[in-house]
Amino acid sequence: YNSFERRKEKLLTISTVAPADALPVCLTSPTVAILGSGDFSRSLALRLVASGVRVVVGSRCVNRIPSGLFPDAVELRNQEGAVSQAVCLVFMAVFPEHYCSLLGLQSALAGKVLVDVSNGAEMNIHGPSNAERLAELFPDSLVVKGFNTVSTWELQTGAHDGSRQVMICSNSTEGKKKVVQLARQMGFHPVDMGGLSAAREIEVAPLRLFPSWSGPVVVTFLLFLFFYGYGFLRGILLPFLAQGGHNAFYRLALDLVNESLPAVALVTLALVYFPGLFAAWLQLWRGTKYQRFPSWLDNWLQRRKQLGLLSFLCAALHGVYSLCLPLRRITLVSLKVPHKSSVSGTEEPWDELGVWRSDLYLSCGVLGLGVLSLLAITSLPTVGNTLNWREFTFVQSGLGYIALTLSIMHTLFFGWDFAFHIEAYPFYMPPSYLLAVVVPCIVLVCRCFLLLPCIFTRLTRIRRGWESKRNCPVLQHHYVVANGIP
Ligand code: NAP
Repeated sequence: YNSFERRKEKLLTISTVAPADALPVCLTSPTVAILGSGDFSRSLALRLVASGVRVVVGSRCVNRIPSGLFPDAVELRNQEGAVSQAVCLVFMAVFPEHYCSLLGLQSALAGKVLVDVSNGAEMNIHGPSNAERLAELFPDSLVVKGFNTVSTWELQTGAHDGSRQVMICSNSTEGKKKVVQLARQMGFHPVDMGGLSAAREIEVAPLRLFPSWSGPVVVTFLLFLFFYGYGFLRGILLPFLAQGGHNAFYRLALDLVNESLPAVALVTLALVYFPGLFAAWLQLWRGTKYQRFPSWLDNWLQRRKQLGLLSFLCAALHGVYSLCLPLRRITLVSLKVPHKSSVSGTEEPWDELGVWRSDLYLSCGVLGLGVLSLLAITSLPTVGNTLNWREFTFVQSGLGYIALTLSIMHTLFFGWDFAFHIEAYPFYMPPSYLLAVVVPCIVLVCRCFLLLPCIFTRLTRIRRGWESKRNCPVLQHHYVVANGIP
């Protein structure tokens, strides 16, 4: 309550220094009524007052409202009194299940604009929306859906913080115009979503939890489980069972996680480019770009950004984990430089090939992570919006393939020639880094095929609208006419 008071004071201060363009409007702003005196009503009233609007709040029981809860500029009345004061706009800041209890106000609300700010109770978007039900209950009023996607926090933090978009829909152009005007005056960006039937979509919008992320997160998690489980079986459990108690379970917390993360990062990065290649081969095979992709491919194409960001996350975590690896790793690298053996006192031979391998492996990894960071940064809307289409494609496709190649090289340098030793296949199980490069290598090979001049030229023509004879509707028409096919 105290923090609310502080924020209220802050907003009241803001209201005294309202932007110059808001001033002329506030002097002429008609009174707006809010029905209900709950959290949303308080925050909305604060914001309206700060925007220079005269507000009257209608409550079932005015005496129950503690003094100082609303700014002094807000008038507190009973519901009928508030509605009668409102020139044309009335906000319904009550839950939709209580709309029926307001039926007595039907005639007082006739001809006024009712703003339905309610959220959906569940994700079910079947059946009428709250706004449509409100319109049925008050047929003589103009119902507008809006402001439900704005939280009380966003209403209180002022125009310069939080989300500024307000989705609005209504069947009444006049009502929508009035709400759009008010939203602008309050410092929001109104977005016209069309007729009242769009209310269903707007009501469930605040309930959605990262809708475009669920698929990529599940895929990444399953990949991690696979590589972690595989590494556990191959490197810890089977040797433990076979060698009668050689305990390497300490590797579970750090080593195994650090082995699984780069494998997941690599496969996820390959999955970013796989659907694009699939789409290209499909277009080549069909000989046209005017046929829709299957819906699973469409969905996959739309999730590439999320997959890329998750790949970046795994790669970054792998980098941090590698830096945190215990001292034994550092000792392993220091073995590559000549020094006196602590055991025999003799000088170790200089393993030049080993040093090359380790340096190339580290260098490719760091460069790959660097390029991947660039991709992640340009996928941010604020950065991406500053690039033109060619620059964006260059970064996301050109640099993306460079990141993929560097990551594959990082993995291959790590494997070096060990992959050809029989010891690398205990229990006939290849190392996980070998499994991890399969999909990325397929992606790179397919991409190289697409760059062959004969294929590249045909694909470019298809993407510029050319169609093969069996798909071209004009040629098909001529064929039908020439052969007299009815
Ligand atoms: P709230 O704090 O519970 O306030 C609801 C108000 O409705 C009460 O203060 C009460 O005011 C009035 N009310 C309660 N029972 C009633 C009844 N039987 N008949 C008539 N009026 C009744 O709820 P809220 O958080 O402000 O939410 C109100 C609406 O805003 C909801 O539809 C919600 O979905 C929407 N919304 C809320 C938020 C948010 O962040 N809170 C964000 C977006 C949208 P009186 O006692 O003064 O009449």
